[in-house]
Amino acid sequence: MKVTRELFSDVMVPNYNPAKMIPVKGKGSRVWDQDDNEYVDFAGGIAVNVLGHCHPELVGALKEQGEKLWHLSNVWTNEPALRLAKKLTDLTFADRVYYANSGAEANEAALKLARRWALDHHGEQKNQIISFKKGFHGRTFFTVTVGGQEAYSEGFGPKPGAVEHAEYNDLESLKALMSDNTCAVMMEPLQGEGGIIEPTDEFVKGVRELCDQHNALLIFDEVQSGVGRTGKLYAYMNLGVTPDILTTAKSLGGGFPVGAMLTKADIAESLKPGTHGSTYGGNPLACAIAEKVLDVVNTPEVLDGVKQKEQLFRDGIKAINDKYNVFSEVRGQGMLLGCALNDEYQGRARDFLMASNDQQLMVLVAGANVVRFAPSLIIPDEDIREGLARFERAVAAVVNG
Ligand SMILES: *Cc1c(COP(=O)(O)O)cnc(C)c1O
Repeated sequence: MKVTRELFSDVMVPNYNPAKMIPVKGKGSRVWDQDDNEYVDFAGGIAVNVLGHCHPELVGALKEQGEKLWHLSNVWTNEPALRLAKKLTDLTFADRVYYANSGAEANEAALKLARRWALDHHGEQKNQIISFKKGFHGRTFFTVTVGGQEAYSEGFGPKPGAVEHAEYNDLESLKALMSDNTCAVMMEPLQGEGGIIEPTDEFVKGVRELCDQHNALLIFDEVQSGVGRTGKLYAYMNLGVTPDILTTAKSLGGGFPVGAMLTKADIAESLKPGTHGSTYGGNPLACAIAEKVLDVVNTPEVLDGVKQKEQLFRDGIKAINDKYNVFSEVRGQGMLLGCALNDEYQGRARDFLMASNDQQLMVLVAGANVVRFAPSLIIPDEDIREGLARFERAVAAVVNG
């Protein structure tokens, strides 16, 4: 059967509008389409392919576990799940892990845990959840309601209640909503989808203090910022603030679907047997791969490399911008960078994405005004240079109409 892009419209629900070309093969930070055209990958599967495509150690882990044991359900536990949980708890503030298959599901678990914890310890009036405008937490109905873009949550009927939104980086707006009835504050310690927006030190510390003052749990959604992307294993490690619950997915599986919620032992007590679950959660195949991802990413070579590669990107983007004057600033950290368009190019991020695609470069947007790069943490320097050369041609194409 010949597979074409036209087939997409014939057989798929139209909620996505993918590019014209269909990738068929990837190696490191290069991807090939059906016609054997080669692309440089600055998108990384939306901050997922943390070690590029088909990393030999991940392929090895997949094959090894694939010939041993794929799936059990949670009626039985398994070795990869327990080994991964041991590593995640040894490496972070957390001492308990819950597994899911995606970021949204990890967040769903975090929100349900927070509500149960508040009920167990304070009573049912403590159910308010506060999050931030422009925040993104996934597409289940609860997580999309907690997310800060109404466009994503409207039109699906009555929403889960007691969810309110403050302004990111504006402590007063959070303060105005908070009370002893606040059960949790959920935030990204670096907003991704919302436009690559970093919190100020003062803001994160203030959020933590307000949570402590009102006995509310602080949930960090590190689905996009986690697993080495900022140059630290988790972004919170750079902020001097520790959450009560942390969610991780995307890069955790390096391209294999897996998610996890991490928390402290006393809070975890509220997810008693039967309160929550997932058929696939803790699947041995997924956990074996995630374990390998952690082993490879959590090394000085990879984490220090992220900072060096960030500088290469920043220098290259600056040189392009000196020539074409399209960006007002470059935001973000490590291998999660956003080029914010200046006044003249407002609303045109997608034009830069399409022009990049024409130059055989895969990039992302974060909203209408930011071009986003979320490549592999180990993207070779020569691929960065080649990708930036292609990006320069794409920028020139947009500027010259
Ligand atoms: C992508 C993302 C999610 C949702 O993850 P899925 O795996 O798509 O469900 C949640 N939170 C943040 C911060 C994300 O970037």
